[in-house]
Amino acid sequence: MIFSLENAEDEITIAKKFPFVKLSLSFEELKIPQKNLKIGVIGFGPAGMFAALTLAENGFKPVVFERGCNIDTRKRDVDLFCGGGTFNPESNIQFGEGGAGTFSDGKLTTRINDNFTGFVLHKFAQFGAPPEILNKARPHIGTDNLCEIIKNIRKAIISLGGEVRFNTKITGIENANGGVRLTFDNETENFDRVILAAGHSAKDIFTLLKEQTPMEHKPFSVGVRIEHRRVDINRSLYGENPGLPEGEYMLSKHIGGRGVYTFCMCPGGMVMPSNSEPETVVTNGMSEFGRNGDNSNAAVCVSVNPEDFDNSDLFGGLKFIEIIEKSAYRHDLPYCAPGTSVGGFIDGKPTLDGLSVTGTYPRGLYESDFTGIFPEFVITHLKQGLKAFSNKLSAYGDMNALLTAPETRTSSPLRIKRNENGEAYGIKGLFPCGEGAGYAGGIMSAAVDGLRCAMWATHGCPLSKKENI
Ligand SMILES: Cc1cc2nc3c(=O)[nH]c(=O)nc-3n(C[C@H](O)[C@H](O)[C@H](O)COP(=O)(O)OP(=O)(O)OC[C@H]3O[C@@H](n4cnc5c(N)ncnc54)[C@H](O)[C@@H]3O)c2cc1C
Repeated sequence: MIFSLENAEDEITIAKKFPFVKLSLSFEELKIPQKNLKIGVIGFGPAGMFAALTLAENGFKPVVFERGCNIDTRKRDVDLFCGGGTFNPESNIQFGEGGAGTFSDGKLTTRINDNFTGFVLHKFAQFGAPPEILNKARPHIGTDNLCEIIKNIRKAIISLGGEVRFNTKITGIENANGGVRLTFDNETENFDRVILAAGHSAKDIFTLLKEQTPMEHKPFSVGVRIEHRRVDINRSLYGENPGLPEGEYMLSKHIGGRGVYTFCMCPGGMVMPSNSEPETVVTNGMSEFGRNGDNSNAAVCVSVNPEDFDNSDLFGGLKFIEIIEKSAYRHDLPYCAPGTSVGGFIDGKPTLDGLSVTGTYPRGLYESDFTGIFPEFVITHLKQGLKAFSNKLSAYGDMNALLTAPETRTSSPLRIKRNENGEAYGIKGLFPCGEGAGYAGGIMSAAVDGLRCAMWATHGCPLSKKENI
């Protein structure tokens, strides 16, 4: 089914067929879109994908620029790197078709309260996600399904007249004749509108825009990945009751005005090397749809506010993150991650002996209690948070569970400001979108922001509910 931006009847069709899909758009507010608008989309992660799909399904012919490869080539590059091979800075867990969340649990839970979340679920199901995502309280897709869904979405965009140009990195964005000029591969091309959905790992984009459009600091968080045995998490949550879904949890604690919380929990998953730059270490988690690996992992993060870094420097937050990622890298053990048992971390005597799990981080671990990697406040808060969580979930009392670090790409440290029509200030026709622009924090909220930016770019009016990320 095609969702028309112009035709309110589609809303009624969706509402009848999928009563759980909540759509309530004020279509009367819409202006007549100009179908001949030339629209570019930078990035093919959830935000760019949903922007391009919405545009294509509504008669536009978006041109998508993606610096990375198509999903099949990207999978090969990621497998090669995980197996000990060379790191490819343009084709990795962050960059390439599908964006940052392709090698993920594909969790579609979100804290945003937006009418479009039901619509995004419906679209994922239409392009191949298991239909159960439509009625689960905590839907997830899994890496295995995501890879196929992403391909199907790309094929739909192309079949509707859109273009997806892989291996094409945007290196220039500037005003041109009331629109936007993009530079790539020593060429330029002008667009009436450009949706900028480059994700928060595209630091070069922030540098490109620094002198052209205002940006502001925003809070983010950093921390570690914890791995427990999946059966221990299930037992902590359900006791001995069999037949329940693989256990998921979210824990949080306010300590001294700062939040410590678990994030992006992956039941039966793996810890993945998620760096996008050479000679750095970054962790994150993924699961397949079956969630049946031996371990369950989650990020345990500490909130970082602009007061915690040099906020007189626009890139102070980015530099804070960069220092952590570089400090974790050891030239004698390339791309190995620092790790320790929980007990070793709390006692300041790091050890990888006597663990209750076999770590899943594929490039291997070296012993570290993370001093010299994180600032002191992160370490003390992590220790206090882990102790507090052991009173909430018994598995957290396991001092032989494994910590791997650093988890740094939780959300963007910068926001690219946009006006009430979604446009960047100073660059007419540029629509900053998704996680990199600071308007999303996960697959669902990025996809919703992509939809919203597609509407802004074509209709000039925001249709969705308030942002509440
Ligand atoms: C391993 C991992 C697991 C995760 N698990 C989950 C999960 O289970 N659930 C969840 O909600 N979230 C998860 N996330 C977070 C989620 O992936 C992101 O929030 C989401 O992908 C952000 O979407 P986006 O489209 O804004 O940006 P991205 O997904 O980062 O996409 C940006 C795209 O732009 C491209 N790009 C960058 N610069 C340029 C340029 N100059 N020119 C052209 N293209 C460019 C990149 O290659 C990339 O493909 C996970 C993230 C990771 C890394």
